[in-house]
Amino acid sequence: MSAADVPAGDTALGIAAAVRSGTRSAVEVVEEHLTAIAARDGELNAFNLVTADQARQAALAIDERVAAGEDPGPLAGVPVALKDNLCTRGVPTTCSSRILEGWRPPYDATVVERLVAAGAVVVGKTNLDEFAMGSSTENSAFGPTRNPHDPSRVPGGSSGGSAAAVAAGFAPVSLGSDTGGSIRQPAALCGVVGVKPTYGAVSRYGLVAFASSLDQVGPFARTVADAAAVLEVIGGHDPRDSTSIPRPAPSLVAELEAGVQGLRVGLVTELCEGEGIEPGVAARVDDAAAALEAAGATVDKVSVPAAVHGLSAYYLIAPAEASSNLARYDGVRYGLRVDAPTTGEMYDRTRTEGFGAEVKRRIMLGTYALSAGYYEAFYGKAQKVRTLIIRDFEAAYEQFDVLLSPTSPTTAFPLGAKTADPLAMYMNDVCTVPSSLAGHPAISVPFGTDESGLPVGVQVMAPALGEPVMFRVAAALEAAAPGRG
Ligand code: GLN
Repeated sequence: MSAADVPAGDTALGIAAAVRSGTRSAVEVVEEHLTAIAARDGELNAFNLVTADQARQAALAIDERVAAGEDPGPLAGVPVALKDNLCTRGVPTTCSSRILEGWRPPYDATVVERLVAAGAVVVGKTNLDEFAMGSSTENSAFGPTRNPHDPSRVPGGSSGGSAAAVAAGFAPVSLGSDTGGSIRQPAALCGVVGVKPTYGAVSRYGLVAFASSLDQVGPFARTVADAAAVLEVIGGHDPRDSTSIPRPAPSLVAELEAGVQGLRVGLVTELCEGEGIEPGVAARVDDAAAALEAAGATVDKVSVPAAVHGLSAYYLIAPAEASSNLARYDGVRYGLRVDAPTTGEMYDRTRTEGFGAEVKRRIMLGTYALSAGYYEAFYGKAQKVRTLIIRDFEAAYEQFDVLLSPTSPTTAFPLGAKTADPLAMYMNDVCTVPSSLAGHPAISVPFGTDESGLPVGVQVMAPALGEPVMFRVAAALEAAAPGRG
């Protein structure tokens, strides 16, 4: 399936138009999606929780507003699934970790508030790698999510549940979080669109923190236009997030028809020709470049030399920040507490039982990288590499409007293939972490399949706040994607 093959009635924009005009009821739309979830989520495990009753009530309220002549908003009646690290008032938010067992946030994340205010209907909370640490959704305390294209394979991660939910038709759109690739990589492996916005473009208020200098919330969708519509709703300044950029969300849907005539597209050598890029993936990126050229863009190779150090820098900076952020789970303030005779032992037992192996590995790596005597050699050096990456991208964007690469070096791999080898798992992020470290936006667009028929994602990167041009290129790729009927 190509993203552009989605029947208009199944898209978020199609649903919203039909619900707003009263030709379809939001209740009927939500029932259809709940039926799809009931039929197949037992197999896929995309959801940690399906909020069916609340979704039905919300849909009914939308229909009542339409009947009363009101406009419920640009996403009226659109079912949406939320990664389970986004806070939902009174509804369990687990981060797929045992340590948050029983915790119900007292507030909604800003992005959730904005979706609901725009008329969207939340259908549930989706599975993830524990605290968003992973690339396959196998690090979940609640079992892995499976890829709808081939259930013996992973959906990618960490937002694997949100990607699978959209690919399986459980919801036309969903939200994920992306720290080093967790929206883009699962989008690629599941054959859907996934967007990591510019750092600061979308509020992180109510997103459970992993690595605060990198974390961003963004949408999954089956079409580029749906992703743009959701980003317009969730983006823009939020005074409750100190890292939020004080400017309104840019208009994106209006950009999609602008075409790519005259745009300069750079193929990033280090990310297109690096070690581990499967030939079936590299071939689709070449096809994508050719398609953009045919649509009027100029395409050339470009070097972003420091990008080769992206993975090493990321796997110091992200764990360092995580080790600090996750110190708050102490058995006192949130969720799980394993009682013990002394407070110290209580912390110890709670964290020992509450966290899974990958989260513990990150806390240890991060604590080490920040410790006296090692700080300069590890964390300090990683920050210097981060600056070099930013400079190299800036130089590339003097010559190019957007940059292109694979999203993920491979297509979806079998469950269990990389769980015993953390470094092999980290290699999944080689193409996505450089723009994360730079704080730049990037989108993964489905572009054909490999020789086994598994989806391939092409990544379009843009300079900070370059979402409008990034979406133009994404729309052109979608229009040219192989298999478009
Ligand atoms: N796979 C990367 C990691 O494990 C990225 C995760 C993310 O973006 N949340 O850290």
